Amino acid sequence: MDKKITIAIDGHSSCGKSTMAKDLAREIGYIYIDSGAMYRCCTLFALDNSLIAPDGTIDTATLEARMPEIQVSFKFNPETRRPDTYLNNELVEDRIRTMEVSSHVSPIAALPFVRAAMTAQQQAMGREGGIVMDGRDIGTAVFPDAELKIFVTASDEIRAQRRYDELIAKGQPADFDDVLANLRERDRIDSTRAVAPLRQAPDALVLDNSHLTIPEQKQWLIERFKEKTKTLPPPSL
Ligand code: C5P
Repeated sequence: MDKKITIAIDGHSSCGKSTMAKDLAREIGYIYIDSGAMYRCCTLFALDNSLIAPDGTIDTATLEARMPEIQVSFKFNPETRRPDTYLNNELVEDRIRTMEVSSHVSPIAALPFVRAAMTAQQQAMGREGGIVMDGRDIGTAVFPDAELKIFVTASDEIRAQRRYDELIAKGQPADFDDVLANLRERDRIDSTRAVAPLRQAPDALVLDNSHLTIPEQKQWLIERFKEKTKTLPPPSL
């Protein structure tokens, strides 16, 4: 059997990373993990427990003490053929995608104790390889030895339009300018934080998918996967 590799897909907010990561994982029979969903769950937990004040101040001492209460898991949904996110066994797939969570997630994800907890869980999930994980720091901090690293980007306006369309399709309230401002602000916080900032790993392949269709980007990624697995040494017996 071929050696199963680790695939890290990082990039800016709302550039379609998770769509391409999910499609690839399904095609090649790997596990897909959405690391952003894990940071969104931490944010939802903080909101549900009133640990974020209306002015955005986070009660970091309480959140740090309560981190062991945050258990994130993923279960395959046979209807959508995609994994759903569960926070403490509650299905939260829709609740973690609201604008409210989006507008608080980057400051939560910048907290070193939140990153330490999520990174440890992500590394445990990927210990055996055979995983596609998307996020901001997967190729740089979570799996620096990943065999295949991709860094995805697209223009701000195109990314905002995609996220806006997604929210509208789900029946969630959205305003295009708010969505655009939110993704720019998240990119700014994610790129400038002290711990594991959003960066392109030096050995990552860059994909600007501004003008690619979903089938085209899927094809591009499968070709990169095939190239990579073809050049790997055979697995040791
Ligand atoms: O990928 P998604 O947009 O759902 O991620 C939500 C937020 O979680 C990002 O804006 C970022 O602040 C944080 N995140 C992170 N590191 C990751 C994945 C996401 O800091 N590996």
